[in-house]
Amino acid sequence: MQTLSSIQFRNDFVSTFDGDQSGNLTPRQTPHVLYSKATPTPVKKVTLLAWSDELAKELEIENPTDQNDVDILGGNIVTPSMQPYAACYAGHQFGNWAGQLGDGRAITLGELRTSTGKVWELQIKGPGPTAYSRRADGRAVLRSSVREYLMSEAMFHLGVPTTRALSLVSTGDLVMRDMFYDGNPEFEPGAIVMRVSPSFLRFGNFEMPAARGEIDNLKKLVDWTIERYYPHIHGEDKILTWYKEIVERTASLMVEWLRVGFVHGVMNTDNMSILGLTIDYGPYSFVDDYDPTFTPNTTDLPGRRYAFGKQASIAKWNLGCLGGAIAPLLPNTDELVKVLDGYDDFFWNRFYIMMGSRIGLDDLKLDDVNLINEFEKTLRMIKPDMTIFYQLLIDLPLNTDNKHDVVDHFKGSFYKELSQMEVDTLYSLIKIYVERIASNTISREESVMRMRKTNPRIILRNYMLHQAIEDLEKGNDGLFVKLQEAMKEPYSKKFDEFFAKRPSWATQKAGCSMLSCSS
Ligand code: AMP
Ligand code: MG
Repeated sequence: MQTLSSIQFRNDFVSTFDGDQSGNLTPRQTPHVLYSKATPTPVKKVTLLAWSDELAKELEIENPTDQNDVDILGGNIVTPSMQPYAACYAGHQFGNWAGQLGDGRAITLGELRTSTGKVWELQIKGPGPTAYSRRADGRAVLRSSVREYLMSEAMFHLGVPTTRALSLVSTGDLVMRDMFYDGNPEFEPGAIVMRVSPSFLRFGNFEMPAARGEIDNLKKLVDWTIERYYPHIHGEDKILTWYKEIVERTASLMVEWLRVGFVHGVMNTDNMSILGLTIDYGPYSFVDDYDPTFTPNTTDLPGRRYAFGKQASIAKWNLGCLGGAIAPLLPNTDELVKVLDGYDDFFWNRFYIMMGSRIGLDDLKLDDVNLINEFEKTLRMIKPDMTIFYQLLIDLPLNTDNKHDVVDHFKGSFYKELSQMEVDTLYSLIKIYVERIASNTISREESVMRMRKTNPRIILRNYMLHQAIEDLEKGNDGLFVKLQEAMKEPYSKKFDEFFAKRPSWATQKAGCSMLSCSS
């Protein structure tokens, strides 16, 4: 165990690649380099609001005991072994090429190797301008920082691949934001999250040198990424094998998002992790009422490109961009296209396996695909609360044959009164489901256990976050602390006070259902 101040950071990325060492924080294009040196701009007063004990243990870092440690978390102290930088990346945003983007408000402080040999990148989000801040301030507000801190940890405990968060600090500074994009900006309290991941590399880090025709930089980055993060991949076809693994990791991640009902909201290629992790928590949401067309991001509204039900196909589109970026390193694109085409089979296979576990089936039989599709159709029609519906399915008494009783059993998940047709559809689904469950070759206990493991009971709903943030802004951290605890046990009944539908007051309220990107 070591203190934050005593960590000897490694700086492998910085020492491996060409970077702009000037330290100039004026926004600019930075051709030929993969990063620019960036020192955090000090804030007024760093105060610790939250700290993840479990992650600290894994990182072998002692809990902060003095102001020096806390200052590190807010960027006010840069220790001698740190070589802070902002990465240069590009991206496709909402389907269009956006050119150079880069870490506009994130600075990586250094890399940490634990005694198990695992290497972690430590990055602060909101530390002030970098070469990539464009016209913005490089800062983050408390609202968005609480959301990233709580949600990335919640996703971890749900078992979904994700970057993590070690700490949340307030900065004592005020940050101006136009939350509703309506020309009425207001001051909000500033904050900084220290986030942690083996790597924050995105598809966009590869798109950037490719777009600039910097093939040497691209090749070096690809080779390094494979060697460091995919060390099991060797041989002549290693780039193709690597791409295939990214395709599969990304497809698996999409299945995981569908499993827990997560909608990212901004699936631009600069927000797609090269390790298949959930990255960059912005205007995300869980689905409450089941609706594949739901997008939480107000900016996404006209086209709903990043809607819940579209995420899997958008991920494939993004993988196509990554494929295009690495194509110059391959003799031809035929194999690359074949690998990308394999995305669909891989995704659907994983999806049906997940759904089979979700509803407690033994092995998947051909007919089960129809049953699973019926679940999808029925949920689309009656729009129940997805999480609560599947929890109620676990508790379904299998001897119920009365239509009224069946519908009554699921009542707690409904957001509306069901029509006769909806009642009939739900009843007939449950009838065939019960028959199928009766043919299971596994015990009822085993079937229920699968369902409990697949279906979370407690999800971090936007309205809960909204309330926790409002309280925190008033100096009351009760709900925030409680949510932090509850998120650690999303599959248990221990925190059933959060096992509740979205209340009606939250349906139209900004920040409770839909959010802007302003953060
Ligand atoms: P995001 O939509 O949060 O993934 O951000 C897209 C791009 O905008 C990234 O290059 C960010 O670094 C940049 N960005 C977002 N907010 C800010 C900010 N407040 N200051 C500087 N850059 C920002
Ligand atoms: Mg981003």
